[in-house]
Amino acid sequence: MNAFTYRCTDCGRRYSREEVRYLCPECGTSYRPGIPLVGVLEAVLDDGAIRSSFDRQNPDWQLFCAVEREFHPPLAVGNTPLARVDRLGSELGLDRLWVKNDGLNPSGSLKDRASFLVVAEARRLGEKRVVAASTGNAASALAAVAASAGVEALIFVPEKAPRAKLVQMVLAGATVVPVRGTYDDAFRLSLEYTAQRGGLNRNTAYHPLTIEGKKTAGLEIWAQLGYEVPDAIVVSVGDGVILGGVHKAFVDLRRAGLADRLPRLVGVQAEKSDAIHRYVQTGRYEDAAEPSTRADSISVVCPSNAHGARRAILESGGATLTVSDAEILEAQERLLGRTGIFAEPAAAAALAGLVKVQAGPGRFGAEEKVVILATGHGLKDVEAPLSRISIPPAIEPRLEAVRV
Ligand SMILES: *Cc1c(COP(=O)(O)O)cnc(C)c1O
Ligand SMILES: [Zn+2]
Repeated sequence: MNAFTYRCTDCGRRYSREEVRYLCPECGTSYRPGIPLVGVLEAVLDDGAIRSSFDRQNPDWQLFCAVEREFHPPLAVGNTPLARVDRLGSELGLDRLWVKNDGLNPSGSLKDRASFLVVAEARRLGEKRVVAASTGNAASALAAVAASAGVEALIFVPEKAPRAKLVQMVLAGATVVPVRGTYDDAFRLSLEYTAQRGGLNRNTAYHPLTIEGKKTAGLEIWAQLGYEVPDAIVVSVGDGVILGGVHKAFVDLRRAGLADRLPRLVGVQAEKSDAIHRYVQTGRYEDAAEPSTRADSISVVCPSNAHGARRAILESGGATLTVSDAEILEAQERLLGRTGIFAEPAAAAALAGLVKVQAGPGRFGAEEKVVILATGHGLKDVEAPLSRISIPPAIEPRLEAVRV
Protein backbone atom coordinates (compact mmCIF):
# COMPACT_ATOMS: atom_id res chain seq x y z
CA MET A 1 0.00 0.00 0.00
CA ASN A 2 1.00 3.49 -0.73
CA ALA A 3 0.93 5.71 2.36
CA PHE A 4 -1.22 8.72 1.58
CA THR A 5 -2.86 11.72 3.15
CA TYR A 6 -6.03 13.57 2.23
CA ARG A 7 -5.80 17.16 1.05
CA CYS A 8 -8.76 19.53 0.84
CA THR A 9 -9.16 20.74 -2.73
CA ASP A 10 -10.48 24.07 -1.44
CA CYS A 11 -8.30 25.10 1.55
CA GLY A 12 -5.36 22.73 1.10
CA ARG A 13 -5.40 21.41 4.68
CA ARG A 14 -4.00 17.90 5.10
CA TYR A 15 -5.60 15.07 7.06
CA SER A 16 -4.68 11.49 7.82
CA ARG A 17 -7.03 8.83 6.50
CA GLU A 18 -8.18 8.07 10.06
CA GLU A 19 -9.16 11.68 10.75
CA VAL A 20 -11.71 12.19 8.00
CA ARG A 21 -14.28 10.27 6.05
CA TYR A 22 -16.01 12.56 3.60
CA LEU A 23 -15.55 16.33 3.18
CA CYS A 24 -12.91 18.63 4.70
CA PRO A 25 -13.93 19.20 8.35
CA GLU A 26 -13.27 22.95 7.93
CA CYS A 27 -14.74 23.75 4.50
CA GLY A 28 -17.31 20.96 4.38
CA THR A 29 -19.38 22.64 7.08
CA SER A 30 -20.39 25.32 4.57
CA TYR A 31 -21.87 22.65 2.31
CA ARG A 32 -25.63 22.36 2.17
CA PRO A 33 -27.70 20.23 -0.19
CA GLY A 34 -28.50 22.03 -3.43
CA ILE A 35 -25.02 23.49 -4.03
CA PRO A 36 -21.97 21.65 -5.45
CA LEU A 37 -19.90 19.96 -2.75
CA VAL A 38 -17.41 22.15 -0.89
CA GLY A 39 -14.26 20.77 0.71
CA VAL A 40 -13.95 17.67 -1.51
CA LEU A 41 -10.87 15.71 -0.42
CA GLU A 42 -8.23 14.23 -2.67
CA ALA A 43 -5.75 11.50 -1.84
CA VAL A 44 -2.14 12.66 -2.04
CA LEU A 45 0.05 9.66 -2.71
CA ASP A 46 3.63 9.02 -1.74
CA ASP A 47 5.30 10.09 -5.00
CA GLY A 48 8.72 9.00 -3.85
CA ALA A 49 7.54 5.42 -3.33
CA ILE A 50 5.94 5.33 -6.78
CA ARG A 51 9.01 6.86 -8.40
CA SER A 52 11.36 4.34 -6.88
CA SER A 53 9.18 1.21 -7.15
CA PHE A 54 6.99 1.48 -10.26
CA ASP A 55 8.23 -0.89 -12.92
CA ARG A 56 6.72 -0.78 -16.40
CA GLN A 57 7.66 -4.39 -17.06
CA ASN A 58 5.79 -5.53 -14.01
CA PRO A 59 3.48 -2.70 -12.92
CA ASP A 60 2.26 -2.70 -9.33
CA TRP A 61 -0.96 -0.66 -9.45
CA GLN A 62 -1.27 -1.03 -5.71
CA LEU A 63 1.19 1.87 -5.50
CA PHE A 64 -1.61 4.12 -6.80
CA CYS A 65 -4.36 2.55 -4.72
CA ALA A 66 -5.71 4.02 -1.48
CA VAL A 67 -7.03 0.78 0.08
CA GLU A 68 -4.94 -2.26 0.92
CA ARG A 69 -5.38 -5.32 -1.26
CA GLU A 70 -6.54 -7.51 1.63
CA PHE A 71 -9.81 -5.55 1.75
CA HIS A 72 -10.51 -5.62 -2.00
CA PRO A 73 -13.80 -7.28 -3.00
CA PRO A 74 -13.42 -10.48 -5.05
CA LEU A 75 -15.27 -9.11 -8.11
CA ALA A 76 -12.88 -8.43 -11.02
CA VAL A 77 -13.34 -4.77 -11.95
CA GLY A 78 -11.53 -2.69 -14.56
CA ASN A 79 -8.88 -3.82 -17.01
CA THR A 80 -11.32 -3.11 -19.81
CA PRO A 81 -10.11 -3.15 -23.42
CA LEU A 82 -8.84 -0.12 -25.31
CA ALA A 83 -9.85 -0.65 -28.94
CA ARG A 84 -8.25 1.16 -31.85
CA VAL A 85 -11.20 2.24 -34.02
CA ASP A 86 -9.89 3.10 -37.49
CA ARG A 87 -13.22 3.02 -39.36
CA LEU A 88 -14.69 5.58 -37.00
CA GLY A 89 -11.42 7.53 -36.86
CA SER A 90 -11.18 7.98 -40.62
CA GLU A 91 -14.70 9.46 -40.70
CA LEU A 92 -13.65 11.99 -38.09
CA GLY A 93 -10.29 12.85 -39.66
CA LEU A 94 -8.35 11.08 -36.90
CA ASP A 95 -5.64 8.51 -37.64
CA ARG A 96 -5.24 7.52 -34.00
CA LEU A 97 -8.56 7.12 -32.27
CA TRP A 98 -9.33 4.64 -29.51
CA VAL A 99 -12.38 3.68 -27.48
CA LYS A 100 -11.91 2.57 -23.89
CA ASN A 101 -14.85 0.21 -23.46
CA ASP A 102 -15.76 0.52 -19.80
CA GLY A 103 -19.22 -0.88 -20.45
CA LEU A 104 -17.45 -4.24 -20.16
CA ASN A 105 -17.15 -3.93 -16.39
CA PRO A 106 -19.13 -6.58 -14.45
CA SER A 107 -22.22 -4.42 -13.88
CA GLY A 108 -21.84 -2.71 -17.26
CA SER A 109 -20.42 0.68 -16.34
CA LEU A 110 -17.35 2.54 -15.15
CA LYS A 111 -19.10 3.03 -11.80
CA ASP A 112 -17.83 -0.40 -10.75
CA ARG A 113 -14.42 1.20 -10.24
CA ALA A 114 -15.69 3.63 -7.59
CA SER A 115 -17.94 1.09 -5.90
CA PHE A 116 -15.05 -1.36 -5.72
CA LEU A 117 -12.85 1.02 -3.76
CA VAL A 118 -15.58 2.30 -1.44
CA VAL A 119 -16.66 -1.26 -0.58
CA ALA A 120 -12.99 -2.06 0.09
CA GLU A 121 -12.89 0.95 2.43
CA ALA A 122 -16.10 -0.23 4.16
CA ARG A 123 -14.42 -3.56 4.85
CA ARG A 124 -11.33 -1.82 6.20
CA LEU A 125 -13.50 0.27 8.52
CA GLY A 126 -15.68 -2.69 9.54
CA GLU A 127 -18.82 -1.00 8.14
CA LYS A 128 -21.49 -3.55 7.21
CA ARG A 129 -23.64 -1.24 5.10
CA VAL A 130 -22.82 1.05 2.17
CA VAL A 131 -25.37 3.69 1.16
CA ALA A 132 -25.61 5.50 -2.17
CA ALA A 133 -27.75 7.81 -4.25
CA SER A 134 -27.51 7.15 -7.93
CA THR A 135 -29.08 7.84 -11.30
CA GLY A 136 -28.81 4.05 -11.73
CA ASN A 137 -25.32 2.90 -12.64
CA ALA A 138 -23.58 3.74 -9.37
CA ALA A 139 -26.32 1.78 -7.64
CA SER A 140 -26.16 -1.28 -9.86
CA ALA A 141 -22.37 -1.19 -9.50
CA LEU A 142 -22.57 -0.91 -5.73
CA ALA A 143 -25.15 -3.72 -5.59
CA ALA A 144 -22.89 -6.07 -7.56
CA VAL A 145 -19.64 -5.27 -5.76
CA ALA A 146 -21.32 -5.37 -2.34
CA ALA A 147 -22.88 -8.75 -3.18
CA SER A 148 -19.44 -10.15 -4.01
CA ALA A 149 -18.05 -8.92 -0.70
CA GLY A 150 -21.02 -9.81 1.51
CA VAL A 151 -21.64 -6.16 2.40
CA GLU A 152 -25.14 -4.68 2.50
CA ALA A 153 -26.04 -2.07 -0.14
CA LEU A 154 -28.75 0.52 0.49
CA ILE A 155 -29.70 2.53 -2.54
CA PHE A 156 -31.73 5.68 -3.18
CA VAL A 157 -32.60 5.98 -6.83
CA PRO A 158 -35.04 8.11 -8.87
CA GLU A 159 -38.14 6.01 -9.62
CA LYS A 160 -37.71 6.78 -13.33
CA ALA A 161 -34.31 5.04 -13.64
CA PRO A 162 -34.13 2.62 -16.63
CA ARG A 163 -35.62 -0.77 -15.80
CA ALA A 164 -32.50 -2.79 -16.56
CA LYS A 165 -30.59 -0.85 -13.90
CA LEU A 166 -33.38 -1.33 -11.34
CA VAL A 167 -33.49 -5.05 -12.16
CA GLN A 168 -29.72 -5.30 -11.65
CA MET A 169 -29.76 -3.78 -8.19
CA VAL A 170 -32.81 -5.64 -6.91
CA LEU A 171 -31.60 -8.98 -8.29
CA ALA A 172 -28.20 -8.48 -6.65
CA GLY A 173 -29.95 -8.31 -3.30
CA ALA A 174 -29.54 -4.60 -2.56
CA THR A 175 -32.13 -2.73 -0.53
CA VAL A 176 -33.58 -0.37 -3.13
CA VAL A 177 -35.54 2.74 -2.22
CA PRO A 178 -37.00 4.38 -5.33
CA VAL A 179 -37.56 8.09 -4.70
CA ARG A 180 -40.34 10.19 -6.22
CA GLY A 181 -38.11 12.92 -7.49
CA THR A 182 -34.83 13.57 -9.21
CA TYR A 183 -31.35 12.22 -8.67
CA ASP A 184 -30.61 15.39 -6.72
CA ASP A 185 -33.46 14.55 -4.31
CA ALA A 186 -32.04 11.04 -3.86
CA PHE A 187 -28.57 12.51 -3.20
CA ARG A 188 -29.83 14.72 -0.39
CA LEU A 189 -31.89 11.93 1.13
CA SER A 190 -28.95 9.52 1.23
CA LEU A 191 -26.78 12.10 3.02
CA GLU A 192 -29.49 12.60 5.64
CA TYR A 193 -29.77 8.84 6.00
CA THR A 194 -26.09 8.17 6.72
CA ALA A 195 -25.79 11.25 8.96
CA GLN A 196 -28.61 9.99 11.16
CA ARG A 197 -28.70 6.22 10.75
CA GLY A 198 -25.13 5.31 9.85
CA GLY A 199 -23.44 3.22 7.18
CA LEU A 200 -20.72 4.33 4.81
CA ASN A 201 -21.91 6.84 2.21
CA ARG A 202 -20.67 6.17 -1.33
CA ASN A 203 -22.08 9.31 -2.95
CA THR A 204 -19.95 10.47 -5.81
CA ALA A 205 -17.22 12.99 -4.81
CA TYR A 206 -18.68 13.09 -1.29
CA HIS A 207 -16.64 9.98 -0.56
CA PRO A 208 -13.14 10.88 -1.79
CA LEU A 209 -12.38 7.32 -2.82
CA THR A 210 -14.98 7.50 -5.60
CA ILE A 211 -12.53 9.82 -7.38
CA GLU A 212 -9.63 7.45 -6.67
CA GLY A 213 -11.64 4.52 -8.02
CA LYS A 214 -12.56 6.29 -11.25
CA LYS A 215 -8.93 7.33 -11.62
CA THR A 216 -7.98 3.78 -12.53
CA ALA A 217 -9.59 4.20 -15.98
CA GLY A 218 -7.02 6.92 -16.69
CA LEU A 219 -4.11 4.83 -15.41
CA GLU A 220 -5.17 1.97 -17.67
CA ILE A 221 -5.40 4.23 -20.73
CA TRP A 222 -1.83 5.36 -20.07
CA ALA A 223 -0.57 1.78 -19.71
CA GLN A 224 -2.56 0.51 -22.71
CA LEU A 225 -1.06 3.21 -24.93
CA GLY A 226 2.37 1.85 -24.06
CA TYR A 227 2.87 4.23 -21.11
CA GLU A 228 2.14 7.28 -23.19
CA VAL A 229 -0.15 10.19 -22.48
CA PRO A 230 -2.77 10.70 -25.21
CA ASP A 231 -3.35 14.19 -26.58
CA ALA A 232 -6.98 14.17 -25.50
CA ILE A 233 -9.56 12.09 -23.68
CA VAL A 234 -13.24 12.70 -24.35
CA VAL A 235 -15.51 12.04 -21.37
CA SER A 236 -19.22 12.46 -20.79
CA VAL A 237 -19.99 14.49 -17.69
CA GLY A 238 -22.77 14.37 -15.12
CA ASP A 239 -21.45 15.05 -11.60
CA GLY A 240 -17.97 15.50 -13.03
CA VAL A 241 -16.29 12.76 -11.00
CA ILE A 242 -15.20 10.57 -13.93
CA LEU A 243 -13.68 13.69 -15.46
CA GLY A 244 -11.98 14.61 -12.18
CA GLY A 245 -10.80 11.04 -11.63
CA VAL A 246 -9.28 10.64 -15.09
CA HIS A 247 -7.51 13.96 -14.61
CA LYS A 248 -6.20 12.83 -11.22
CA ALA A 249 -4.65 9.75 -12.85
CA PHE A 250 -2.39 11.92 -14.97
CA VAL A 251 -1.70 14.37 -12.14
CA ASP A 252 -0.51 11.42 -10.03
CA LEU A 253 1.62 10.12 -12.90
CA ARG A 254 3.16 13.53 -13.45
CA ARG A 255 3.86 14.06 -9.75
CA ALA A 256 5.64 10.70 -9.67
CA GLY A 257 7.71 11.62 -12.71
CA LEU A 258 6.13 8.90 -14.88
CA ALA A 259 4.43 11.31 -17.30
CA ASP A 260 5.53 14.74 -18.40
CA ARG A 261 2.19 16.20 -19.43
CA LEU A 262 -1.56 15.99 -18.98
CA PRO A 263 -4.05 14.99 -21.67
CA ARG A 264 -6.52 17.69 -22.68
CA LEU A 265 -9.89 16.69 -21.33
CA VAL A 266 -13.02 17.27 -23.37
CA GLY A 267 -16.06 17.14 -21.13
CA VAL A 268 -19.37 16.51 -22.88
CA GLN A 269 -22.72 17.30 -21.27
CA ALA A 270 -26.31 16.97 -22.41
CA GLU A 271 -27.84 20.27 -23.55
CA LYS A 272 -30.32 20.29 -20.69
CA SER A 273 -27.89 19.07 -18.04
CA ASP A 274 -25.16 21.60 -18.65
CA ALA A 275 -24.26 23.11 -15.27
CA ILE A 276 -20.55 22.26 -15.51
CA HIS A 277 -20.31 23.45 -19.11
CA ARG A 278 -21.77 26.82 -18.18
CA TYR A 279 -19.58 27.04 -15.10
CA VAL A 280 -16.48 26.54 -17.27
CA GLN A 281 -17.74 29.13 -19.77
CA THR A 282 -18.72 31.87 -17.34
CA GLY A 283 -16.76 31.17 -14.14
CA ARG A 284 -20.02 31.50 -12.24
CA TYR A 285 -21.85 28.43 -10.98
CA GLU A 286 -25.56 28.01 -11.65
CA ASP A 287 -27.76 24.89 -11.55
CA ALA A 288 -29.00 23.27 -14.74
CA ALA A 289 -32.52 24.57 -15.25
CA GLU A 290 -34.28 21.42 -16.41
CA PRO A 291 -32.08 18.34 -16.67
CA SER A 292 -34.26 16.20 -18.89
CA THR A 293 -32.24 13.97 -21.21
CA ARG A 294 -32.43 10.41 -22.51
CA ALA A 295 -28.88 10.08 -21.27
CA ASP A 296 -30.11 9.40 -17.74
CA SER A 297 -26.63 8.79 -16.30
CA ILE A 298 -25.61 12.39 -16.94
CA SER A 299 -28.88 13.99 -15.89
CA VAL A 300 -28.15 16.19 -12.89
CA VAL A 301 -29.30 19.63 -11.69
CA CYS A 302 -26.42 20.35 -9.33
CA PRO A 303 -23.26 18.35 -10.11
CA SER A 304 -21.53 17.31 -6.89
CA ASN A 305 -18.04 17.76 -8.31
CA ALA A 306 -18.66 20.98 -10.29
CA HIS A 307 -15.64 22.75 -8.75
CA GLY A 308 -13.25 19.85 -9.29
CA ALA A 309 -14.47 19.26 -12.83
CA ARG A 310 -13.94 22.89 -13.77
CA ARG A 311 -10.42 22.85 -12.32
CA ALA A 312 -9.64 19.66 -14.26
CA ILE A 313 -10.80 21.18 -17.55
CA LEU A 314 -8.82 24.39 -17.01
CA GLU A 315 -5.67 22.69 -15.73
CA SER A 316 -5.64 20.20 -18.59
CA GLY A 317 -6.12 22.89 -21.24
CA GLY A 318 -9.30 21.17 -22.32
CA ALA A 319 -12.83 22.31 -23.00
CA THR A 320 -16.47 21.46 -22.46
CA LEU A 321 -19.39 21.38 -24.86
CA THR A 322 -22.99 20.22 -24.96
CA VAL A 323 -24.86 17.88 -27.29
CA SER A 324 -28.57 17.32 -27.94
CA ASP A 325 -30.39 14.05 -27.33
CA ALA A 326 -30.73 13.61 -31.10
CA GLU A 327 -26.95 13.94 -31.48
CA ILE A 328 -26.42 11.46 -28.64
CA LEU A 329 -28.70 8.81 -30.16
CA GLU A 330 -27.13 9.31 -33.57
CA ALA A 331 -23.69 8.84 -32.02
CA GLN A 332 -24.86 5.70 -30.25
CA GLU A 333 -25.88 4.18 -33.58
CA ARG A 334 -22.69 5.33 -35.26
CA LEU A 335 -20.47 3.90 -32.53
CA LEU A 336 -22.11 0.49 -32.72
CA GLY A 337 -22.27 0.59 -36.52
CA ARG A 338 -18.59 1.47 -36.96
CA THR A 339 -16.88 -0.24 -34.03
CA GLY A 340 -19.21 -2.94 -32.71
CA ILE A 341 -19.24 -1.22 -29.33
CA PHE A 342 -22.70 -0.76 -27.82
CA ALA A 343 -22.75 2.15 -25.39
CA GLU A 344 -25.64 3.57 -23.41
CA PRO A 345 -26.75 7.10 -24.34
CA ALA A 346 -24.72 8.81 -21.61
CA ALA A 347 -21.60 7.03 -22.84
CA ALA A 348 -22.33 7.75 -26.51
CA ALA A 349 -22.55 11.44 -25.59
CA ALA A 350 -18.73 11.45 -25.60
CA LEU A 351 -18.67 10.46 -29.28
CA ALA A 352 -21.41 13.00 -30.04
CA GLY A 353 -19.14 15.62 -28.52
CA LEU A 354 -16.12 14.50 -30.53
CA VAL A 355 -18.18 14.58 -33.74
CA LYS A 356 -19.05 18.19 -32.93
CA VAL A 357 -15.45 19.12 -32.12
CA GLN A 358 -14.23 17.61 -35.40
CA ALA A 359 -16.80 19.64 -37.35
CA GLY A 360 -15.58 22.92 -35.85
CA PRO A 361 -12.53 25.21 -35.88
CA GLY A 362 -11.01 23.61 -32.76
CA ARG A 363 -10.80 20.13 -34.28
CA PHE A 364 -8.00 17.73 -33.46
CA GLY A 365 -5.34 17.14 -36.08
CA ALA A 366 -5.10 13.77 -37.84
CA GLU A 367 -1.94 12.85 -35.93
CA GLU A 368 -3.28 13.53 -32.47
CA LYS A 369 -3.99 10.61 -30.18
CA VAL A 370 -7.57 10.78 -28.98
CA VAL A 371 -9.38 8.40 -26.63
CA ILE A 372 -13.15 8.20 -26.19
CA LEU A 373 -14.09 6.88 -22.78
CA ALA A 374 -17.24 4.76 -23.27
CA THR A 375 -18.60 4.72 -19.75
CA GLY A 376 -21.59 2.34 -19.85
CA HIS A 377 -23.09 -0.55 -21.83
CA GLY A 378 -25.92 -0.10 -24.34
CA LEU A 379 -27.96 -2.98 -22.92
CA LYS A 380 -28.55 -0.84 -19.83
CA ASP A 381 -31.30 1.02 -21.67
CA VAL A 382 -32.66 -0.45 -24.91
CA GLU A 383 -35.70 1.84 -24.89
CA ALA A 384 -33.72 4.95 -25.79
CA PRO A 385 -32.51 3.88 -29.28
CA LEU A 386 -35.91 2.39 -30.23
CA SER A 387 -37.03 5.84 -31.35
CA ARG A 388 -34.51 5.65 -34.22
CA ILE A 389 -34.94 2.12 -35.49
CA SER A 390 -37.69 -0.25 -36.45
CA ILE A 391 -37.38 -3.95 -35.97
CA PRO A 392 -38.45 -5.76 -39.19
CA PRO A 393 -41.74 -7.70 -39.07
CA ALA A 394 -41.62 -11.52 -39.06
CA ILE A 395 -42.11 -13.56 -42.25
CA GLU A 396 -43.47 -17.02 -42.96
CA PRO A 397 -40.64 -19.59 -42.79
CA ARG A 398 -40.52 -20.09 -46.59
CA LEU A 399 -37.64 -19.01 -48.83
CA GLU A 400 -40.03 -17.13 -51.24
CA ALA A 401 -40.95 -14.86 -48.33
CA VAL A 402 -37.31 -13.84 -47.82
CA ARG A 403 -36.98 -10.54 -49.71
CA VAL A 404 -33.34 -9.77 -48.98
C1 LIG B 1 -22.05 8.22 -14.07
C2 LIG B 1 -21.91 8.15 -15.52
C3 LIG B 1 -21.38 9.20 -16.28
C4 LIG B 1 -20.98 10.51 -15.67
O1 LIG B 1 -20.06 10.41 -14.62
P1 LIG B 1 -19.92 11.59 -13.57
O2 LIG B 1 -18.83 11.20 -12.68
O3 LIG B 1 -21.25 11.70 -12.88
O4 LIG B 1 -19.64 12.82 -14.36
C5 LIG B 1 -21.25 9.04 -17.63
N1 LIG B 1 -21.65 7.91 -18.24
C6 LIG B 1 -22.15 6.86 -17.55
C7 LIG B 1 -22.57 5.64 -18.30
C8 LIG B 1 -22.30 6.95 -16.18
O5 LIG B 1 -22.84 5.91 -15.52
ZN1 LIG C 1 -10.85 22.63 3.40
